[in-house]
Amino acid sequence: MTADTGVAAMCSRAGCRRDAAWQVVWCNPRIHSPERRKIWAACEEHVAYLRDYLAARDFPVEVVAFETEAPGSPASETKTETETVK
Ligand SMILES: [Zn+2]
Repeated sequence: MTADTGVAAMCSRAGCRRDAAWQVVWCNPRIHSPERRKIWAACEEHVAYLRDYLAARDFPVEVVAFETEAPGSPASETKTETETVK
């Protein structure tokens, strides 16, 4: 169990316990409203698998690096924080 820094997300692939490096952002137009987004975390190994899984179902799917804000999420205003690094 690690409880040190930041968001530790695990790959969404069943049975995989690797750290996520990617976010697979998708929606199902048949059951979700257009602005609704689902996000799967994915490791390097499974990002292609998960993307293809969704693409094969004709779902809009987008892959973004895990660090970046997922598209469609509420726009968090860029805070100007004063750095206190010494
Ligand atoms: Zn994985």
